[in-house]
Amino acid sequence: MLLKNRLFTPGPTPLLPAAQNAMAAFTAHHRTADFKALYTRVLADMKDFIGTSNDVLVIASSGTGVMEGSVSNLTSRGDRVLVLTAGKFGERWRDLAKAYGCTVDVLEKPYGETFSLDEVRIKLTPETRAVYVQATESSTGARHDVKGIAKLVRANGDDTLLIVDAITGLGTTHFDVDGWGIDVIIGGSQKALMIPPGLAYCAISERAWKRMEAAKNPRYYFDFRKERKAAAKGESAFTPATSLFAALGAALDFIRQMGSGDLAAGRKALVDNAELAAEMTRAGVTALGMKLYASSSGAALTAVSSPAGLDSGKIVKEFRESFSAVVANGQGDMKGKLFRIAHIGYYDFLDTIGILAALEHVLARVTGQNVEYGAAVRAAQEIYARSFAEKSQLVGA
Ligand SMILES: *Cc1c(COP(=O)(O)O)cnc(C)c1O
Repeated sequence: MLLKNRLFTPGPTPLLPAAQNAMAAFTAHHRTADFKALYTRVLADMKDFIGTSNDVLVIASSGTGVMEGSVSNLTSRGDRVLVLTAGKFGERWRDLAKAYGCTVDVLEKPYGETFSLDEVRIKLTPETRAVYVQATESSTGARHDVKGIAKLVRANGDDTLLIVDAITGLGTTHFDVDGWGIDVIIGGSQKALMIPPGLAYCAISERAWKRMEAAKNPRYYFDFRKERKAAAKGESAFTPATSLFAALGAALDFIRQMGSGDLAAGRKALVDNAELAAEMTRAGVTALGMKLYASSSGAALTAVSSPAGLDSGKIVKEFRESFSAVVANGQGDMKGKLFRIAHIGYYDFLDTIGILAALEHVLARVTGQNVEYGAAVRAAQEIYARSFAEKSQLVGA
C-alpha cells in the first residue's frame, strides 16, 4: 500500500494544517502594529491555554532554553535546590542546576517509576530555595503527581519555588497552575500546540518574579524580566520567531474551536483527547501481551517494554519501513528496551486505531510468532465505545 508519513513521537508532533498555512502566509515585520496585535493576542490566549492569570512569556528557543532560564533567573551560586528525577529529562534539571553552581539535592527514582510524596517531603528542607520536576517524564511516559508535590512545596513556605517542566504535560494533563501554586510552568511549541519546534513558553508567579530581583546568577538572552517588560508593550526583547507566532495563533484558534469558542474548555478537551488515546493504547498493547514501561503512565505518551530478547529498535524500524510511522525508541540506557507512542496534540481516533493495527503486524513480523489480529484494535475499540457511551449519557442527562 502507499505510505503516509506520520509522527507518533513525543515531540516534534504532527502539525496542524491550519497552523502550517498560517505560517506559510505570514510576512509581517515584528515591529509593526500587525505583529504587535498578534503578539498581544497570542500571549493573552496562552494564559487561557495554560490556565493561569500569571504573566506568560513565549521565547524563541527549544524547551531547554526556558528550562535553563528557570534556573539562571531564579537561583544564585550556592543556593540549595531539590531536583526530582526519574528519567532523561529529570537529569537535565540536575545538570542545569549544577551548571549554575547550585547545591543540588537529588531525589532519584529508577526510570519508569515516580516519587512517593513521603520521599519528597523528607527531601524538602527550610533552606530549599527551589524544586525542579517534570510533569510527565517523556523518556518513560511516567506522570508525576504535580498536585501533591505542589502541596508539599507550598507548605514548605514562600521561600521555596516550584518549577515544573510540563513540556509534554501541558495539553495532556489537567493542572490548576494558580490554585496549586506552581511558580513556573514550562511548555514547548513542538508538543501539544501542534506547531514546529522553535518556541518555548512559561507562566511565572509573582513569587518567582520577586525572586528574580534577588537572584544573582548570570543571564542575558533568557533574562525573563527583560521579556516581561517588552511583552507589556506588545513586543519581544529580541527578534521573535514571527512565523511561529502566526502558527501559534492558528493553533490556539483550533483549540478554542474544540471548546466551542472557549479556549479553557478547548484545553480541557485536548487533555481529554490525549487521555482517551492513551487509554486506548494501553488497552491495545496490553491485549497483545506487552507490558507498559511506566508504573504511572500518563496521557502524553505510552512507553511499551520490548518483549524479552527483542531489541525495540527492530520494532521502531518495522513501523517506519512498513507503515512510514515514526515511533520513538528508548533514550540513553533505555535504547533497545522500549518504544514510545505519543498522544500529544493532533491525534484522533483513526490515528490511534491505526497505530495499534500497525503494531499487530509489526509484532508478527519482528517476532515471527502468531499474533491474534484485531486483539489490540478490539481492546481499544471497547475503551472508545465505553467513553462514547458515558459521554452521550452526560449529554442526555
Ligand atoms: C521535549 C521535552 C523537553 C525540551 O526539549 P527541547 O529539545 O529543548 O525542546 C524538555 N522536557 C521534556 C519533558 C520534553 O518532553
